[in-house]
Amino acid sequence: MFFNTEKMKFNTKTIHGGQEPDKAYGAVMPPIYQTSTYAQSTPGGHKGYEYSRTHNPTRAALERAFASLENGKFGLAFGSGMAAIDAILKLLNPGDEVVSTNDLYGGTYRLFTKIFEDFGVKFHFIGMENAARIEDYINENTKLIWVETPTNPMMNIIDIKMAANIAKKKNIILAVDNTFATPYLQKPLDLGADIVMHSATKYLGGHSDVVMGALIVKDKELAERLYFIQNASGAICGPQDSFLVLRGLKTLHIRMQRHCENAKKIALFLKNHPKIDRVYWPGFENHPNHTIAKAQMNDFGGMLSFSTKGNDFNEAIKIVENLKIFTLAESLGGVESLSGHPASMTHASIPKEEREKTGVNDSLIRLSVGIEDVDDLIDDLRQAIG
Ligand SMILES: *Cc1c(COP(=O)(O)O)cnc(C)c1O
Repeated sequence: MFFNTEKMKFNTKTIHGGQEPDKAYGAVMPPIYQTSTYAQSTPGGHKGYEYSRTHNPTRAALERAFASLENGKFGLAFGSGMAAIDAILKLLNPGDEVVSTNDLYGGTYRLFTKIFEDFGVKFHFIGMENAARIEDYINENTKLIWVETPTNPMMNIIDIKMAANIAKKKNIILAVDNTFATPYLQKPLDLGADIVMHSATKYLGGHSDVVMGALIVKDKELAERLYFIQNASGAICGPQDSFLVLRGLKTLHIRMQRHCENAKKIALFLKNHPKIDRVYWPGFENHPNHTIAKAQMNDFGGMLSFSTKGNDFNEAIKIVENLKIFTLAESLGGVESLSGHPASMTHASIPKEEREKTGVNDSLIRLSVGIEDVDDLIDDLRQAIG
């Protein structure tokens, strides 16, 4: 019954990766160990678990699954994606510098600039579509390179391998936010990254019912430092949520396949619509980073953005209000389709001047394409755009 899950193909790993039948009763799904503590026969005499901030068997099963899917060795599950990013930043000291992509999740920008800048960490936000530019911002204080690809919401693609080569030369940690792509589409550790980060709230959980974060690493020493921070800071997720995300992971491959198929058809529909100005989707051959996308991703994902001709704020608001199947909501990556207006929602915490520099203009609408029947989704967009 016990097999080496390392050699499995991805579509098998989503179901079996890092898992083994429950030792007590053979339960096929890991039980929800809803407990804070564990009996000891003598002080220190326990069965590997002593307190649930440090370890929990349900969370441990999920963490093994995370590690397996990203071809890593160690997984860590957190109470949110932000808590996972926070743990990475706690590897740094005052005076350290970070080179980060400028087109990134608003909450990440807020954490960097409103919390860690106050602790004396310096951030350089740069366009990384040409990853060679990273090198221009590196000095002896640079300790972390932060990459998010595809970027949010402009769908730029950053060359992970090139970023990794720069990081390796200078002994800098490369962390990649892999939330949009998921390991179904790209595996940053295989491309040379040191840390993969996820908001498991999105595709990994996949059902819009959990908030969770994840980190995956290969290196034991780095893993130990992160486990220390996780245990010391305490931003862990609970056993119920661990169970839900473990269940969600089992269909990741088939969900992602459908997300990608639907997004492709919608991207083509929007491209040909007379009222639409630009469609941002890395699958288009004329997308500026299409070649890199093709090289480092297996497909182009379920996310896309578009803007309307005239760039009218109110028209964009009307479109998202008119959509019926696409729910207007923050977040992404669930089975259901969502729409968002970054300028007034996810990116409201980024100053207008900053966000417009990266292309987040007033009419930009972001879609998280779900796994519904694509004909219904296209009909919905057609009626809403008018
Ligand atoms: C949602 C998101 C986060 C933050 O994760 P939470 O689970 O909401 O804390 C970080 N990065 C990206 C790309 C995200 O979409």
